[in-house]
Amino acid sequence: MTNVFDLMDEWGPEKIVAVSDTRTGMKGVLVIDNTSRGIGKGGTRMQPTVSVEEIARLARVMTWKWAGVDLFYGGAKAGIQADPNSPYKEEILRSFVRKLSNEVPEEYVFGLDMGLTENDAATINDELGSRGAAVGTPYELGGVPYDQLGITGYGVAEVVDEAATRQNLQGTRVAIQGFGAVGHATAARLHELGYQVVAISTAAGAIADPDGLDVPVLLERKAQVGDRLVEDFPQLRIASGAELYVEAEIVVPAALQDVINATDAPAIRAQLLVEGANLPTSPQAQEILAERGVTVVPDFVANAGGVVSAAFAMDARFSPFRAETDSIFTTVSQKLRANTIQVLEEARSRSVTTHQAARGLAQERVRKAMQLRGKVLTH
Ligand code: NAD
Repeated sequence: MTNVFDLMDEWGPEKIVAVSDTRTGMKGVLVIDNTSRGIGKGGTRMQPTVSVEEIARLARVMTWKWAGVDLFYGGAKAGIQADPNSPYKEEILRSFVRKLSNEVPEEYVFGLDMGLTENDAATINDELGSRGAAVGTPYELGGVPYDQLGITGYGVAEVVDEAATRQNLQGTRVAIQGFGAVGHATAARLHELGYQVVAISTAAGAIADPDGLDVPVLLERKAQVGDRLVEDFPQLRIASGAELYVEAEIVVPAALQDVINATDAPAIRAQLLVEGANLPTSPQAQEILAERGVTVVPDFVANAGGVVSAAFAMDARFSPFRAETDSIFTTVSQKLRANTIQVLEEARSRSVTTHQAARGLAQERVRKAMQLRGKVLTH
């Protein structure tokens, strides 16, 4: 069993609140990692296997994500140990959020993560009697539906374009793993920007065409049949996983974590790898890719479109006007492109991997804020 004190280091967590309710069987935890740059903001997860340790790790990732994209919120995450398909989901959720009414919304604002939907965000606001308790509420309640808008994938594509421009790879071939919320929106934006998408995959398999896939047709089929769209193209089928290693200048893993380790990294043929998924490459793989001259744009730089739009959603809580979708896309593009340049430059000048550079920049910002608030250890 995890000793919660073992989870605490120089950065946080500042607060861990574990709650339970004997009537509903609800068990849950809120971890507020580091609020030196702003109040805690990070999604809320509902899964039967949720642990305090997992939520603490995710809260730490949020600390670096917010600082990495230079937005003034702090790292936090909440988790409910329950089955999201339970007929008692609403009762469990209401009981969880009620128990956190001391912390919400002054120190933490609920958001969506695995197991929670936009309707659950509406339930949270209803339970706590304020519009400010959760973001991710439905469009009809003034929310910002960021998965529907494909903002994270749009941002990944903008990052691809920025990094590709620096390597003279504009308009070249791209292979994408995953065609879900992130992967399909990445493909759509890259197609608009003039790139040739030569491979894509879903959990149902992978397809490739060296002359370029027909992205509008793929998007249409995805809307109709979801992951099974790959079954429409038997003549283009390749082995699952092979999409990461096809002949292409750029590769975008946008599905699962831990897909490229030290054994796989030498087989990557691309010159640019942009991490749409969280944690797709191992630290050893990152070193091997750097040694081989493959530019890697780290996950929390490339997929930060989600947090930028969450920041808009935070503002939208207190505004009677709908968030302007156009300005979200513009901000995502500007912030992520600028961040990409900064991280690539930093990695080059310090001769470190881009992951080390990105984490270093985020830590520097958090450390500075901690110093200014007098939160740094003095003895
Ligand atoms: P999703 O569930 O919408 O899509 C996942 C896609 O991956 C699906 O197309 C699925 O078929 C495919 N897939 C699953 N197993 C596969 C396999 N073995 N091979 C190939 N494809 C496979 O999920 P998503 O929201 O697109 O998230 C994808 C990744 O991006 C995750 O790592 C997630 O943490 C990360 N991410 C998502 C967001 C967001 O806004 N949705 C933000 C930041 C990071």
